[in-house]
Amino acid sequence: MNTTNVPAEAADALRADVTGRVFAPSDPGYEQARQAWNLTADQRPAMVVEAASAADVAAAVRFARSHGLRIAPQGTGHGAAPLEPLEGALLLRTSPMRGVRIDPDTRTARTDAGALWQDVAAPASEHGLAGLAGTSLDVGVTGYTLGGGLGWLARRYGLAANSVTAAEMVTADGQLVRTDPKHEADLFWAIRGGGGSVGVVTALEMLLYPVRKLYAGVLFFPVQRAAEVLHSWREWITWVPNEVTSIGRILRLPRLPTVPDQLRGRAFALVEAACDGDEGAGAELIAPLRKLGPEIDTFATIPALELSQLHMDPTEPVAAVGDGALLADFPAAAADALVSLAGADADTMLISIEVRHLDGALRRPAGHGGALPSIDASYALYGTGVAATPDAVATISDQAQALKSALAPWHASYSYYNATDTPAPAQALLPRDSYQRLRQIKISRDPTDAIISAHPA
Ligand SMILES: Cc1cc2nc3c(=O)[nH]c(=O)nc-3n(C[C@H](O)[C@H](O)[C@H](O)COP(=O)(O)OP(=O)(O)OC[C@H]3O[C@@H](n4cnc5c(N)ncnc54)[C@H](O)[C@@H]3O)c2cc1C
Repeated sequence: MNTTNVPAEAADALRADVTGRVFAPSDPGYEQARQAWNLTADQRPAMVVEAASAADVAAAVRFARSHGLRIAPQGTGHGAAPLEPLEGALLLRTSPMRGVRIDPDTRTARTDAGALWQDVAAPASEHGLAGLAGTSLDVGVTGYTLGGGLGWLARRYGLAANSVTAAEMVTADGQLVRTDPKHEADLFWAIRGGGGSVGVVTALEMLLYPVRKLYAGVLFFPVQRAAEVLHSWREWITWVPNEVTSIGRILRLPRLPTVPDQLRGRAFALVEAACDGDEGAGAELIAPLRKLGPEIDTFATIPALELSQLHMDPTEPVAAVGDGALLADFPAAAADALVSLAGADADTMLISIEVRHLDGALRRPAGHGGALPSIDASYALYGTGVAATPDAVATISDQAQALKSALAPWHASYSYYNATDTPAPAQALLPRDSYQRLRQIKISRDPTDAIISAHPA
């Protein structure tokens, strides 16, 4: 139960001050307003504000400060799992703020805080442009980008965070500011990979890239071939160019009517890849993996907009439980360890275990990068399942931790912000120097720790 009561007349005053909606725990609509995309997150804030504008965000922050509430900014709630309890907090939902402007001349996008990647991808594609979205277009642009942002173009163009050119934010004392390399440069640095602990972002501006079509798809092999497929993928990525971003994966598809007959209830070892180039070059690159004889081969030239279908992410809210780690290396012994936990004989509720190939542009520190200028690791590991009951949450969570432990000998020195679904401080998710600088900025900009973020600075 929520223990912090905001007087009803104070809530009414806030209602009169904002164009968005305000919910106290006793209000009809509160239950729906507090719900995150991740259905395992049981958020019970003292108040929910659905901000409709930057002015609403500023009003909500000032209201929270004057009533002793902390502030938890949230767009979709895809990243809600690691959040600390929100009792005594104002949940500041930006979901109504989905405005997006594309400028084809400067190849940039301006996204309001609640925009989803689908809001950017569709209009950008009309100009032959693409942003650095992840595997799902339902994910929010803001949370994803603030945590780094690893997508299908990552090895070519780097992290989404380092393509941000400016941001508008409401500071912890309720001021709306514009941040870029010349203005409020400390805030601008902190939000590019350091998460959203230093202020509430109201809009981002970012570069787009000329990507009309790609050669991309998935090779499906029966899970019994997992070791052979992962070893072949490991060898393949040692020579592919940065135009190729790929994932080696073990996937267990549910017995749901929405899953095609051929896949329903079955387990597969997969290679998913996107090659930013033409069909001839792409087919030549994929040829060695094709020679292995996949059961299903979906590689084809596709519009950039269709990249979101490759990874088969859920499009509706789910009770997702998972966790991940960055790996310095993924040698044969690591692939074998993964197969022993998730291969054909494994008794596991993890429906997906993936290893993403990093390096390429992700390794090179971005010229004027932010808190995460590059990633000092070659792979990102992530395991996840969907829990129907509290017991299942515990089982899947244990299995995700067992997966991480099994690959601990190859862990990098920090983990990846967006793939860390358990409570963890930003200190565990950034290079040491970056964390120290982020901490200084947090102390100077939000000395009383009013802003709650997925991973506290
Ligand atoms: C199906 C799925 C696919 C995914 N694919 C990828 C992928 O390919 N690559 C990748 O890198 N990640 C991926 N992720 C992880 C995803 O990037 C994170 O969960 C991210 O936090 C989601 O951002 P959001 O805004 O949608 O989520 P939210 O839960 O709304 O936000 C997450 C956190 O971001 C911060 N935040 C959000 N909005 C603001 C704001 N306006 N101001 C300040 N801080 C803010 C807050 O700390 C908040 O707790 C995926 C997640 C899911 C569930």
